[in-house]
Amino acid sequence: MKGKINVKTENIFPVIKKFLYSDHEIFLREIVSNAVDATQKLKTLSSIGEVKGDLGDLTIDVKIDKDKKTLHVIDRGIGMTKDEVEKYITQIAFSGAEEFLEKFKGKSETDINQLIGHFGLGFFSSFMVSDQVEIFTKSFKEGKGVHWTCDGDTEYSIEDFDKTERGTEIVMHITEECKDFLEEYKILELLRKYCKFMPVAIRFGKEKTWEDSPTEKDKDGNAKRIEVEKDRIINNTEPLWKKTPSELKDEDYKKFFRELYPMNFDDPLFHIHLNVDYPFNLTGILYFPKVKKNIDPTQDKIQLYCNQVFVTDSVEGVVPQYMMLLRGVIDSPDIPLNVSRSYLQSDNNVKKISSHISKKVAEKLEEISKKQHDEFLDKWNDLKVFIEYGMLSDEKFYERMKNIYVFKNTEGKFFTFDEYKTKISPVQTDKDKNIIVLYAQNTDVQYSYIQAAKEKGYDVLLMDGILDSHFINMLEQKNEKIRFARIDSDVINKLIQKDETVPSKLNEQETTKVKEMMENLVDKKTFTVLTEPLDENAQPVTVTQNEFMRRMKDMSELGGGGMYGLYGEMPDSYNLVINTNHPAIYNLVQSQDEEHKTQVLSQLKDLALLSQGLLKGEALDTFIKRSTKIIE
Ligand code: ADP
Ligand code: MG
Repeated sequence: MKGKINVKTENIFPVIKKFLYSDHEIFLREIVSNAVDATQKLKTLSSIGEVKGDLGDLTIDVKIDKDKKTLHVIDRGIGMTKDEVEKYITQIAFSGAEEFLEKFKGKSETDINQLIGHFGLGFFSSFMVSDQVEIFTKSFKEGKGVHWTCDGDTEYSIEDFDKTERGTEIVMHITEECKDFLEEYKILELLRKYCKFMPVAIRFGKEKTWEDSPTEKDKDGNAKRIEVEKDRIINNTEPLWKKTPSELKDEDYKKFFRELYPMNFDDPLFHIHLNVDYPFNLTGILYFPKVKKNIDPTQDKIQLYCNQVFVTDSVEGVVPQYMMLLRGVIDSPDIPLNVSRSYLQSDNNVKKISSHISKKVAEKLEEISKKQHDEFLDKWNDLKVFIEYGMLSDEKFYERMKNIYVFKNTEGKFFTFDEYKTKISPVQTDKDKNIIVLYAQNTDVQYSYIQAAKEKGYDVLLMDGILDSHFINMLEQKNEKIRFARIDSDVINKLIQKDETVPSKLNEQETTKVKEMMENLVDKKTFTVLTEPLDENAQPVTVTQNEFMRRMKDMSELGGGGMYGLYGEMPDSYNLVINTNHPAIYNLVQSQDEEHKTQVLSQLKDLALLSQGLLKGEALDTFIKRSTKIIE
């Protein structure tokens, strides 16, 4: 029998072909997932006794016929009667398409992308790659088989057909344009991408593997390894996230991580097994990976599934930005399947899912920090970037994390923020009642500054993470009486300003003179010369770098964006502080030999620069020559 599809619009297929999915390749996911659905339905009916007897092999077959230029998806599911084909394929599916077209009229392309998600046009996506699609099907119910065919116009034909096996075969006559989909490698790639965890076994082609021979032995008497050709099964029908967490071991999670990301050779740090059934359904496993110096968020991304059917691994906008550092899978029947990403982002379920996941992740971190505190500290270096990123970008996450975030000092001890404030406030409070947190970014380079601080009874944190400058800024904004100062941002007496004044050994005139002398020795654009009466045994000359200026520069280098962009070209600037109480300076000022004075001051200045790695090229050469001469 021939029929005409009841569609007012002349030809809907060109429109579907053009707009339905940005990626044509998802047709395969749609057709295979229909086969999976039909098989699952059959299993359900069998379990409640509606279908009697042995169900047989339910494996879904995907086949290519190169000569006929056809791609076949064959299932042994519930099949369809003639009435059902008319109803589910011709009427409902087409009316979905029709409705789609109605809405589509007069809309812009972006609106259309938004609309697409609302329509279940799964089956018809096959027309994106086919000139003609045929259905051969036989229902589990009594009755004959059916053959339906349609060539992408509004006309279709449907007739009885002698089919012995229960189930459905979809035959797609692939267009010349899409002939890639007749290549084995291409179909294999797509099946692996979209069908890797579908719940019914999918068979495609053959593959070679090595097995123990049942008969042959090697010279040691062990079974000989022989190469065998076997049917290739594409998927793991029982992925780990569907299993009960209490029955799983740590090793299982690590193994599954490797199954997800075969090219990642690091073990993950922790995992979270998600299992939610209210207010929406969601399962999944998230992993905290080891964080590399150069984080590449485009690799090994979180994968979204809908009932074990792959949806996407472009989760930007679906999960908060900082979550993109995590790995793993999220599976929810509430994630719309037929979607473009912009649609996904605006979907309310997706938003709820996203905030729920953040909450779960925070809970897990709280739990680890409580119950496995040593492990938590052990892995802190890797967790830190993630937690800081989250705290910087999500207020709720900040609130949950602020009590478990830990600071590490230069002695390797850990403190929560509150603990640390209590620890340092007796000594590190300045005259304005600000608590001054001192930190180093490099314990080698800043060694002498750290030592000087320790001698004064101060504690020094190690803040060497890539987000630390931003993080410090945020903490200062949130805590009024807290200031952070890098250990080399000022001389030790001024890092934490107390009410005391230290008398200077030099009078005002002498001080001015030594300052001027120094100014003649350095490049004024880079160095500002200052004088300060410090301890006798503090360094005679010290290089410091203003905290504010340095942070601006750090952040502009990090690509802080926004206003920091303005400081992109910021030059380095330093203070050169002369200790007017140091004997070397005092003696120098008393000396009458001008040449000797210049030589000593140059030497002291160069030593200060050298200790900070600031003496280079010609200046370094001059210093070496002068030093040699002095020794002579
Ligand atoms: P959806 O899967 O969202 O219902 P589709 O357009 O993919 O939408 O499929 C339309 C309908 O056609 C299905 O609901 C189902 O009733 C029927 N159908 C499609 N493929 C099969 C199949 N392989 N076996 C049995 N029924 C099928
Ligand atoms: Mg479908």
